[in-house]
Parts: sequence; C-alpha cells; structure tokens
Amino acid sequence: MHDDTPPNTPTRRRFLEQTFAGLGVGLIACTGRAQQSRVVAPGTGYQASENLPEGPVGRPEPEHDQELPQDASEQLGWAVAGLGHFAQNYAIPGIARARRAKLTGLVSGNATKAQRVARSYGLGNDAIYDYGTMDRLADDDDVDVVYVITPNSVHPELVVKAFEAGKHVMCEKPMANSPAECQRMIDAARAAGRKLMVAYRAHFEPHNVAAKRLFDAGELGDVWFAMSDHHRPLNPDHERDQWRMQKPIAGGGSLVDIGIYALNGIIWLFGETPSRILASINSPPDDVRFTEVEAFSRVQLEFPSGRAAALTSGYTGSKKRIDLVGSKGTATLDPATEYRGDRLVIHTPEGADEVHPDKESDAQFTDEIDHLCQAIQEGTEIRTPGEMGLRDVRLIEAIYRSAELGRWVDVAPDGSLRDA
Ligand code: NDP
Repeated sequence: MHDDTPPNTPTRRRFLEQTFAGLGVGLIACTGRAQQSRVVAPGTGYQASENLPEGPVGRPEPEHDQELPQDASEQLGWAVAGLGHFAQNYAIPGIARARRAKLTGLVSGNATKAQRVARSYGLGNDAIYDYGTMDRLADDDDVDVVYVITPNSVHPELVVKAFEAGKHVMCEKPMANSPAECQRMIDAARAAGRKLMVAYRAHFEPHNVAAKRLFDAGELGDVWFAMSDHHRPLNPDHERDQWRMQKPIAGGGSLVDIGIYALNGIIWLFGETPSRILASINSPPDDVRFTEVEAFSRVQLEFPSGRAAALTSGYTGSKKRIDLVGSKGTATLDPATEYRGDRLVIHTPEGADEVHPDKESDAQFTDEIDHLCQAIQEGTEIRTPGEMGLRDVRLIEAIYRSAELGRWVDVAPDGSLRDA
C-alpha cells in the first residue's frame, strides 16, 4: 500500500534523530537546544536572567559552541608552498582559523605576491622563502609543517625538500604523477621520521563524514552499488587552469584533477579497494583544451565484496555528486565535494530527509589541518596518509591502462595493476 506520510513528519524525524544521536552526528533541523528557565519580558519575547548584575562585573565562562584555539605557544607553525588560487582562497584562511595551527612561513616563486600575502597575515619578510632557498627552513624553528599546494608535477620535489629540512608535510591531491614519485615521498618521510598527509578534504567534510557513519552503521541497509560524478569546467582564461591543460605537469585530465574525489570517496565510503576496473576516456573533438589531457573519464569498479561502482569525471560542466544505493535508503551527497554548501539527503520509499550536521562544510579545511597537527602533537594516526595517495595514483594508472587496452584490468589491494 502506498504510504502518504509526508517527508519530515515527526515519525520520520524521530527515526533520523535516533539514528544520528547514536552516530554522534547532530541534526540541526530536528533537534532543538534545551532552553534554560528564563524570565520573559512582556511583549518583547526577550528572555532575561533573573539575577542580572546592575554594574560591570565578572561573569562565568560561557558555553562554547566551538573549541577555543590552542595557546599560540602550543600551535604548530605552518608554511605554505605555492601561493595560488587554492592556497590563498582556502588553505591559508583555513590555517588562520584552525585551533592547532598558525601561519608562520610562505614559499613562493613570486616575491611581490609573497610579500603581500605575508603582510596580510602579519608575517615579516624573514618568513618568506623561494623554491631555491627552502633548505633554509631547516633553521626555522617557527615552521613545523610545510603544506605543498603547487601544480601536481612539482609536489614530489618540494615534499622531499621539506622532509630534508626536518618538517612534516601536507601535500595536495593528486599526491604525484606516478607511483614511483609517491614512493619517493613516502621514503623521504620515513627517513626524516616525519608525518606525510595527503589533503583529501572530503574525509573531514561534515556531510561526507555523516554519510560514512550511516554506511558503517548499516543504516542504509545493504549497499551493493554506488555512483559518483565529478565535473568542473576547465577555463583556459584562468591562470590556475593553464598547467591543467599540460599533461607533463598535470599528469592527466579531469580524472586526476577531480575524478580523484570520486575514486577516493567511493573507496573510503565502501572501506575497500577495487579488484577490477574497466575504463574509457574521451574528449570533445577539436577542443584545444584537450590536446594533451582528457575531458572525460568513465570508470567501472568491482570490489572484492561483490560491490560495484560507476564513476565519471569531466572538464566541460559542473557536477559533484555521490550516491550510495542501499536496500533501506539511498544517501545522496549533492553537491558532495564543494568548498561550501555540501548537502546530504537520505531517500527512502517514504520520502526524502536532509541531514544537517552540526558543522558547516567549510569546517573541512580547519578540521583537516587540525587533524595533522593532532597527529604530530599526540602521535595519533593520519586518516589520509601518503600510502593512500600512492594507492590512488596506482589506481589512476590502472584506469588509464584499462582505457588504453579497452578491457577490464585486475588490481591488487595496494592499487597496483596485476596484469597488462
Ligand atoms: P594555481 O595555479 O592557482 O596555484 C599553483 C601555485 O603553485 C602557483 O600560483 C605558484 O605559486 C606555484 N607554482 C610553483 N611552480 C609552478 C609552476 N611550474 N607552474 C605554475 N605554478 C607553480 O593552482 P591551484 O591552486 O588550483 O592548485 C594547486 C594544487 O592544489 C594542485 O595540486 C591541485 O590539484 C590542488 N588543489 C586542491 C584542491 C582541493 O580542494 N584540495 C582544490 C584546488 C586545487 P607561487 O607563484 O607562489 O610560486
């Protein structure tokens, strides 16, 4: 019989509230904060405390919706290498807002730009390095971590230099353009006894984290299939997209740049690495943007458990979506991996419910940065270590190989090709 219960009825809300309370995920829309007993001023709706002081006094510590920053002496100093679009708009503001981090250095090939950024964040010129003087970071005790945010082909050289200077490293995705380079970075981290994290921000994005918890708790039922589409237009008029059109620098097209979110996301959510891959790539004819790199990838994944997934990536339009198709409910992240405004909706036969985690999407930047700081300060595990970056670069290699061969390829649990 058809159920006419409208979405978001009390019953459905109670179901989601119970589900999420157990999972430690807040639902802003469904759960009100407990109100304290207050005197309401007639006609104003204003709620005043009964015992307000008449003059200036000390008051108790208020409740904090957010954790307070660590004392500056405990915060770790971060230097950012490569002051491009993502660094200036997201990474550096993220460091400035993080609890456990502070910006203490800049590495740039453009001195004028570096000086402007340094001034904006209260740094002196002595905090600025260029790519040739990075080794002097070894003498800079104010820098604990180097965050490498350059074009992909430049990551390995700077990451290794940072380790040689004795620093910990956060490296942007994709980690490098070949498995051998990823391995070199991991070896350098081991030799230095320092931590290496790949900046897979979705692992810290509250809606993605909520979807992962729902999946792990079995709330979606049996999930045998998932889809993910990640597309964004490549604009040659933008400085940041010029190197993305050059294969030796970018390493590939939409697959390595944005399809990696689909690949890494599905593997993370499923908790397993695919064992078989079938892929194809193509581009619109006569489009100069795609002389060296592909516009589109279409990838089928099969997993050891019997699960399957279909991924696409593209460079001509906008879409960032993940669907986990479950027997009890389908979790749809749409958008899944924007910088702000990600959404999670659970579709069941009764209707659709939106999940509102208790943090906004842009908490992903601060939480990611604090996560590495905590791992350094407390010796805890890194959720997205260099080995994960290496696995994904191996899988990308296998995807391109499948596209080249035009058939399924088998891959090992570490992501490397078993044949061909
Ligand atoms: P941009 O081109 O805007 O910035 C790259 C910066 O790297 C440049 O401004 C420059 O900084 C420095 N650089 C060093 N060597 C070179 C070189 N040979 N050619 C060009 N620039 C060079 O790129 P994005 O900020 O968009 O991307 C940078 C990295 O961040 C990439 O690995 C990308 O995949 C990743 N990224 C991650 C995102 C995420 O959500 N996690 C989002 C966007 C990008 P300077 O002038 O200071 O030397």
